[in-house]
Amino acid sequence: MAFSRFAKRMDQLKASEIREILKLTERPEVISFAGGLPDPELFPIRELQLIAVKVLEEHGKEALQYATTEGYRPLRDKIALRMNRTLGTAWTADNILITSGSQQGIDLAGKAFLDEGDVIFCESPSYLGAIQAFRAYGPEFVEVPTDHEGMDIVQLRELLQTTQRAKLIYVIPDFQNPTGRSWTLARRQELIKLANEFDLVIIEDNPYGELRFEGEPIPSLQSLDTEGRVLHLGTFSKTFCPGLRMGWTAADSAIIPKLVLLKQGADLQASTISQRQLDAYLETYDLGEQIVKIVEVYRKRRDTMMEALRREMPADVRFNIPSGGLFTWLELAPELNARDLLVRCLDHNVAFVPGGSFYPNGGHENTLRLNYSNMTEERIIEGIARLGKVLREYTAE
Ligand code: PMP
Repeated sequence: MAFSRFAKRMDQLKASEIREILKLTERPEVISFAGGLPDPELFPIRELQLIAVKVLEEHGKEALQYATTEGYRPLRDKIALRMNRTLGTAWTADNILITSGSQQGIDLAGKAFLDEGDVIFCESPSYLGAIQAFRAYGPEFVEVPTDHEGMDIVQLRELLQTTQRAKLIYVIPDFQNPTGRSWTLARRQELIKLANEFDLVIIEDNPYGELRFEGEPIPSLQSLDTEGRVLHLGTFSKTFCPGLRMGWTAADSAIIPKLVLLKQGADLQASTISQRQLDAYLETYDLGEQIVKIVEVYRKRRDTMMEALRREMPADVRFNIPSGGLFTWLELAPELNARDLLVRCLDHNVAFVPGGSFYPNGGHENTLRLNYSNMTEERIIEGIARLGKVLREYTAE
């Protein structure tokens, strides 16, 4: 009855069977490389405790009241300044919309730009949460092959030449989820050129850019854009903590008011008290120092995981060595299936996410994603040893 009355778009949205399997990874004896969580040991709990009291004492009435959809202006000022310093943009608060996590920025962008049947290009593979958010708007996904330098621009051009309703391109150029790879400057420049030529809107999703373990930052797509066609999605989830749900969208001043209209309909505004707390934190403490701490811990975990993979993986397994972010990506021999491997791994109390879920059009079942941010080095070593053992047994069958 009621269930026959769902909108057509609900047919496209299916809970992945992987989610069900991954529920099993919550048992404490399982060493799970499946999540994408920051390490809660690094959350600045004491500082936030002091800030929470201060905000309520000094601005309790405002902090608990409704506020504007755009977001708390002093916070937007700080975000614009921070972006201009670290990402080479030239924004003011008017270019910043505070969102409930960057996930909401993805959803609002999909709603603002995608009509049913429009084509959205994405990296192959891409972030599952974005694929799900866009899918609700009924687009066609065109996956563009990627390598260790970023998206294959030659193939993108060919695809664009044969695609009727090309509209959006969604990319994660820094320490991508799921692969951990970053784009070179040349690929970024070429993408901007193509977007200008084919009149595409670019969504640059950047939750991991500041978690760089080595090397120099590469200019953001938004800093290379001269036509206002890049929406940049930022978040405090990985540099601070995800529970406050504080993210932002930075865009040309012609785009922000449209997103504001949509956000009004979605949730009126981001949490006032979260915004006030974050703003007071940024006022009182140095987020840069906090990021240095996080980076030191994750770099060691990355190193530990890479050493363990070199030691434990069969020679034909290929893996990425990420220079930042939370993830690495494995490619097994083409005939192997990571979903089958996961089922076997769960018997040995180790888990990961099979890579097939990150391809909107399916396939690539011989790939998998590993997270190293949320676990001690001892558990990384033990977990990769277990994974290696199960993989060797599976391959020998
Ligand atoms: N984009 C990417 C690529 C992500 O990996 C994530 C979170 N895992 C998000 C967006 C959403 O993060 P949040 O909403 O917490 O900012």
